[in-house]
Amino acid sequence: MHTSEADVLVIGAGPAGLTASALLARYGVSAITVTKYASTANSPRAHITNQRTAEVLRDLGIEERVRAFATPSNLMGNNVWAASFAGQEIARLMTWGSGPARKADYDSASPSAMMNAPQHLLEPVLLDAARSHGADIRFSTELVSITQDDNAVHAVARERESGEEYAIRARYAIGADGGRSTVAAQLGFPMQGQMGLGASVNVWLEADLTKYNRAPPGGPVLDQPARQRLLGRQRDVDLRQAVDGVGAAVHVRPGAGRAGPVVRGAAGPGTPDHR
Ligand SMILES: Cc1cc2nc3c(=O)[nH]c(=O)nc-3n(C[C@H](O)[C@H](O)[C@H](O)COP(=O)(O)OP(=O)(O)OC[C@H]3O[C@@H](n4cnc5c(N)ncnc54)[C@H](O)[C@@H]3O)c2cc1C
Repeated sequence: MHTSEADVLVIGAGPAGLTASALLARYGVSAITVTKYASTANSPRAHITNQRTAEVLRDLGIEERVRAFATPSNLMGNNVWAASFAGQEIARLMTWGSGPARKADYDSASPSAMMNAPQHLLEPVLLDAARSHGADIRFSTELVSITQDDNAVHAVARERESGEEYAIRARYAIGADGGRSTVAAQLGFPMQGQMGLGASVNVWLEADLTKYNRAPPGGPVLDQPARQRLLGRQRDVDLRQAVDGVGAAVHVRPGAGRAGPVVRGAAGPGTPDHR
């Protein structure tokens, strides 16, 4: 088994791992990043990007690239609760420093405003930044085991396509391998709290709903309707709204099970071209 060596081993290439990888490369620290998936995120997932994160993107020289596709802070004003996309509005909450009580605090906290940057668009920019600084990022490469002694971190990684395993030796490791972390499990970091307390369905919606937007945009149901970009895809539920002029249709993948009717119901009978 051959051994790769670096100062830092980063496990994971989501937002945390890619940012760590890019910053390490930017500051000239040798690092290897391994990630078990073959690509960056395939759905929007996390999107609210706070001011401190925007400052880190600025340090990496990519703040403006991200802002170019993100929904700007002035369109992130409201979280909306409604009976359906076109139905009765139940409540509206001013959020992300948009209300008069907090706006000055946010404006004076940083030169970098908040933004709404979907994860599947952010990650390729982070990856590009990391690679442009010379980062070594290995996709389809899974961490199999990790241990540490007084001198080093010792890991075994597996290339998923070939099945080949090799060793990695590093001075430090960054466990950026998400909620079901192999690093945390193998190094014995305990998780606290009860899992599985709730369930949710994410819908990836691309439709022009501007004319149904009676007030400033925003919301957990539609989220930023002015940009029609949101939410995501659940493993067993592939729900999209196809753009069809101003109309939209909910498509529920066979096998969506009970989630299908739930999402159809949420879209509501008032939604254009709903079926
Ligand atoms: C469908 C969906 C919708 C979501 N919606 C939202 C939302 O609306 N708002 C929000 O804030 N958050 C949302 N999230 C959560 C958000 O995506 C995560 O909080 C965020 O991705 C965490 O980033 P991370 O870098 O810590 O880890 P992750 O993005 O989870 O990345 C983990 C990385 O570790 C790698 N990895 C895991 N195990 C190994 C291993 N053994 N060896 C090598 N690599 C490994 C994976 O390949 C991956 O690259 C959503 C998530 C999903 C799945």
